[in-house]
Amino acid sequence: MLLKRLSEHVQLYEDADFAGMTEEAKDLVVRMAKFAFFAYGWMMIIHVGRTTSGHSKDSRHYPGDALDFHWEKDGKVVPLEAQRAVADLFDWTGKGEYPEWNSPGLHRDRRSLGELGQGTSWRLKGGEYLVWGRDPIEKMLELED
Ligand SMILES: [Zn+2]
Repeated sequence: MLLKRLSEHVQLYEDADFAGMTEEAKDLVVRMAKFAFFAYGWMMIIHVGRTTSGHSKDSRHYPGDALDFHWEKDGKVVPLEAQRAVADLFDWTGKGEYPEWNSPGLHRDRRSLGELGQGTSWRLKGGEYLVWGRDPIEKMLELED
C-alpha cells in the first residue's frame, strides 16, 4: 500500500481522504496522533477517512466523521491492545477493532450517544461481530468498518 505523508506523525493510504473529514474529527485525529507520536514514537497510518462508498448505510465515514487506522512503531504494527488504550484517551463514541486486517487497527467515529449516554464498541473477528455498549440488536444495524 502506497503511503502519503500528512505530517511527521501521520501517513495516509494513497486513496484516504483526510482533508474531507469534519473539523471536529480532524481535531481529534491530530491531537491523538501527536500524543501517540510524542509519548510513544508511534506513527499513525490512516486507511480511510471520509469516503463515499463501501461502508454500511449510515456509516460515519460518509459525513467524514470517522477514520480507520493503525499505529506503527519502528515499522511494526503496535499491538492492538496498546492502540486501543491510547485511542480510548480521546472522545470517540464509536469504537471498532479489527484484529484481522493486514495491519490490525481501529475504527473510531463521532456518532451520537445512546439514551443512557453510552457509545458503542465492537470487535470483528472470524467474520463475527462482538458488540458491547448499546443494545446489540440495534447496534448490529449501525455497524461499519
Ligand atoms: Zn471505519
